[in-house]
Amino acid sequence: MSETKPPAKMLLNPSRYNEGVSSSILIVEDEAELAQVLRDYLERAGYVVHSVHDGVSAVSHFQHKPSDLVLLDLNLPGMDGLDVSRQLRRHSDVPIIMVTARVEETDRLVGLEIGADDYIVKPFSPREVVARVRAVLRRAQGKPSAPRVLRAADVEVDLERHRVFIRDREAHLTPTEFSLLAALVEQPGRAFTRLQLLAAAQGEAYEGYERTIDAHIKNLRAKIEPDPKDPSYILTVFGVGYRFTDEN
Ligand code: CA
Repeated sequence: MSETKPPAKMLLNPSRYNEGVSSSILIVEDEAELAQVLRDYLERAGYVVHSVHDGVSAVSHFQHKPSDLVLLDLNLPGMDGLDVSRQLRRHSDVPIIMVTARVEETDRLVGLEIGADDYIVKPFSPREVVARVRAVLRRAQGKPSAPRVLRAADVEVDLERHRVFIRDREAHLTPTEFSLLAALVEQPGRAFTRLQLLAAAQGEAYEGYERTIDAHIKNLRAKIEPDPKDPSYILTVFGVGYRFTDEN
């Protein structure tokens, strides 16, 4: 292969670096072979690459070790690319390049406004991916980060300052309660399963531990509900889990 030793350093835009530290890329791709090819190309282009095979691991990995860019496959087993994207967007405006298997899906993605920065359709050449990564990173550099405040009903979740206000009264939440509430408030009316909420709250979720969510919800209600016994914000969806009210 003529590609084995490209002049990696020369491909890079030096201005992208902070004191010589390479940008890091998180690859989320369940096809192991494809993930490996991407990793090889990106590493040769000078990036630090981490790779995970499913959505839950992606969210968990990112929370512990934020990357400079995420290359995210849309069709993943379990939590799909859209869910991963939403989770990441709650706490970060990291550039996301969505990878889809079908051209038709790109229209759907744009319509959903999930906040991906670019799309790549399979099959693609790894070199095209490297070029897109470079372009998106360059663009992201000059972009000021938007204020991130979520609002629904009378509840305001300030992601930057990590504070919660209920009708202008501040509620003091634990980090787990904060993440839970942010997930719920971001999508009022959406019924979340306990497993989804566990993933949202802790970045990882194990079957069998879903019920721990009930305890967190109980504490959260005690802190934010006018009447915790008759909740008006965090509603129980019987047989499913919980949702935030979509009434204003
Ligand atoms: Ca896939």
